[in-house]
Amino acid sequence: MAKMKKDVYFFGDGKAEGKAAWKELLGGKGANLAEMTNLGIPVPPGFTITTGVCTAYYENRRKYPLGLKDRVKKAMVRVEKVMGKRFGDSSNPLLVSVRSGARKSMPGMMESVLNIGLTSRTLPGLISQTKNERFVYDAYRRLIMMYSDVVMEKAEGIEPAENRGIRQVLEHEMDRMKKARGIETDVELTSDDLKELVEIFKKKVKGLLGRPFPDDSDEQLWGGIGAVFQSWNGKRAVAYRRIEGIPQDWGTAVNVQTMVFGNTGDQSATGVAFTRNPATGEKLFYGEWLPNAQGEDVVAGIRTPMPLNKACKSDENKRLLSLEEMMPSAYRQLDQIRKNLERHYKDMQDIEFTIEDGRLWMLQTRDGKRTGTAAIRMAVEMCRERLIDREMALLRIKPESLDELLHPMLDPEAEKRVKPLARGLPAGPGAASGQIVLSSDRAEQWAKEGKKVVLVRSETSPEDVHGMHAAQAILTARGGMTSHAALVARGWGKCCIVGCGALSIRDERREIEVNGRVLREGDVITLNGTKGYVYEGAMALLPADPEKNVHYRELMKWADKERRLGVRTNADRPEDAKKARQFGAEGIGLCRTEHMFFDPERILAMREMIVADSKEQKRKAIMKLLPFQKKDFEEIMEAMEGLPVTIRLLDPPLHEFVNLDRKQIDELARELNVSAEALRARINQLHELNPMLGHRGCRLGITYPEISEMQARAIFEAVVTLKKRKKRVMPEVMIPLVGNEKEFVHQKEIVRRVALEIQKETGIKFPYLIGTMIEIPRACVEAAKIAGEADFFSFGTNDLTQTTFGFSRDDIGSFLPEYLEKKILPEDPFQSLDVEGVGALVEMGVQKGRRSRPRLKVGVCGEHGGDPKSISFFHKVGLDYVSCSPFRVPIARLAAAQAALRERKKK
Ligand code: PEP
Ligand code: MG
Repeated sequence: MAKMKKDVYFFGDGKAEGKAAWKELLGGKGANLAEMTNLGIPVPPGFTITTGVCTAYYENRRKYPLGLKDRVKKAMVRVEKVMGKRFGDSSNPLLVSVRSGARKSMPGMMESVLNIGLTSRTLPGLISQTKNERFVYDAYRRLIMMYSDVVMEKAEGIEPAENRGIRQVLEHEMDRMKKARGIETDVELTSDDLKELVEIFKKKVKGLLGRPFPDDSDEQLWGGIGAVFQSWNGKRAVAYRRIEGIPQDWGTAVNVQTMVFGNTGDQSATGVAFTRNPATGEKLFYGEWLPNAQGEDVVAGIRTPMPLNKACKSDENKRLLSLEEMMPSAYRQLDQIRKNLERHYKDMQDIEFTIEDGRLWMLQTRDGKRTGTAAIRMAVEMCRERLIDREMALLRIKPESLDELLHPMLDPEAEKRVKPLARGLPAGPGAASGQIVLSSDRAEQWAKEGKKVVLVRSETSPEDVHGMHAAQAILTARGGMTSHAALVARGWGKCCIVGCGALSIRDERREIEVNGRVLREGDVITLNGTKGYVYEGAMALLPADPEKNVHYRELMKWADKERRLGVRTNADRPEDAKKARQFGAEGIGLCRTEHMFFDPERILAMREMIVADSKEQKRKAIMKLLPFQKKDFEEIMEAMEGLPVTIRLLDPPLHEFVNLDRKQIDELARELNVSAEALRARINQLHELNPMLGHRGCRLGITYPEISEMQARAIFEAVVTLKKRKKRVMPEVMIPLVGNEKEFVHQKEIVRRVALEIQKETGIKFPYLIGTMIEIPRACVEAAKIAGEADFFSFGTNDLTQTTFGFSRDDIGSFLPEYLEKKILPEDPFQSLDVEGVGALVEMGVQKGRRSRPRLKVGVCGEHGGDPKSISFFHKVGLDYVSCSPFRVPIARLAAAQAALRERKKK
């Protein structure tokens, strides 16, 4: 018989069977609890049931592996030994928490149950041990609330109507009691109140869920374990994994751990903290705490958390006492642990702690989620502190997270002139405007309709992930900086304000009230997530200016030193070209000339050319465009100051230029002085069933050589004008959609002839290249022949993906979601390159091309040129550069550096 895999790992008393590197097996939380235990940090003892058990549980029709119960029992006995207490014991009972812990943190998406082990048998023992009856009954009412919600309702798949879940019902009972007693806070409920409340709770649970709350410690334990496994497949966990790209089959581990209590009295407390500020990256210990409370009180946003130390005080909480002031010795110990953890993990940690009667316990550590801005600052500063090296600093930052720095902020001057409607906590930086939406489903729906929305909720609930994702920004009335949804928003780099106390939300009337002002769903607000200010109406946003950020500048300098790939931009307007240059673009990789034809003044000439009968008339018509095009090219080449500018000859299907209705045809006929009938007939002739596979790309230039001629003339005349003005220029003329070298040669000859003519006419020599796009599979196969003729290749991976898969790039939305759902495709191939298929063609194209022309310059200008994963592939197959939209240029620079570093690491 195969040896049974170990599936329960103990930790406690300075020794653990696991370690941080075993996250796949023990989940993030379990692995780090083991690591902290081994580091000598005070961690309440416990054990971790592996992720493998979760996977087996689902594979085996929700049954546990054989003998698991015995192994759990044995581990529990070890815990009991360390603690000197026994689980289920009547005189000195041990209580445990049961918590989820996946490989990758999924904040708030799965369930936990605390205080397990409290029953009519163990209650008296705990009371006599703690001599605190109130505390024990408070723990008991929390257990009933959590257990009935998580184990008896959610895990059973019961979906109550909105606000009718067992948890809300019990909370309502508690509020009723507080009202009856004339008190405001939970802490004011007496021991007798709680005793009475517990009985009310039990009745409600039995009445609503049809089963009594279990009065047996073991039953509670296994109920909790089962519920954690079930929560892996809970709706919101599945949705979160889909958004974050976490595989659905990883499974979660379960951590069973001795309870320590932050709510036994004034010398007890609980809190969450970050070893550095997760919003700005500043090296300041940052966190929130509550005296005499359990952890859920901090994250649930029910009580306003207090600042950890002086550095965390803001205008909102400056009157509240800090842990540093209230419990200086526990704070000092915590601060030391913070330093040790950073030194050990070499990264910012997100920690949870509890102080029980003056004694500090660590309940969790993990790499903290952070904004993009914070990620950059921390990486650069940690490198300066010699905690990490440059390579690690560069590899640690997700290229997409730079996006946040490249996005708008509110104009501080404009902001000074208006009064904020309300203030809250700055949970996610940047600014955004949008229409108020009060439900996540509607937020998603409105966003699909193309509206910009701000999701406004009273509490930050993890069940809102889809709405949060769809929204421009998130605003909540309650919750602290460490509330779960604030973490999620921050992870996404989304503008977010939480804990905006002045906000009251009237869901049923679809309106909100802020300081007496009533706003309806659909009204526009603006958030400054960097400061936590909410404004009424839309406000002007300032474009981002990453160059002002010294950490970003430093990081990009390091990235540029490491990368081998060049980074260019796709731009066809001078202002875009300038923006891209500021972002570090080293040239234009694709200037699409078609937009220049659709200007009302110009399109007439194009239409005239299309309908003209004779060659002469055609030429005359198209040449009307020459001055316009020349000016376009002059401006764009001037903006690039001598860097290479790749100008692609006309590409779109011909019929797009004459896509007209009846009335427009009549008008055009008048303007062109031709008969409407004849014009209609000509236009009908141009109609195509598959325009993207039709009369477009170089096929246009071959059938209407005068278009290529006019464009070549415009390019080279612009070059000459600039040269006369002593400007440096480097034009690269690119022929689109070539599948056969003869197509290329045909176009090349036109371009070369025009260049020679102009050099002769003006007596001015200039350099230029003529290359081609590779965007048809046949071009990859025939790349050697094409390279024999072309100066450069640029892969048009948009069309190459379209033609390789045979998927229309414009209509993939009708079936792609199902393809992703059914795992037929891992992701949208138009976003991230299909390495196996399209990538293989790219690789073949590069190899064959370079075999015939070893110094062939090769780039890519499809959308994939700005996608980090695809960039890593382009690096591997030896491209010279990638070209992407201006805003993705910094992302591409970092991704290119990471590709180079990873390659070096492998070697
Ligand atoms: C491409 O096909 O990848 C490309 C860059 O060209 P376009 O998107 O203009 O067809
Ligand atoms: Mg294309």
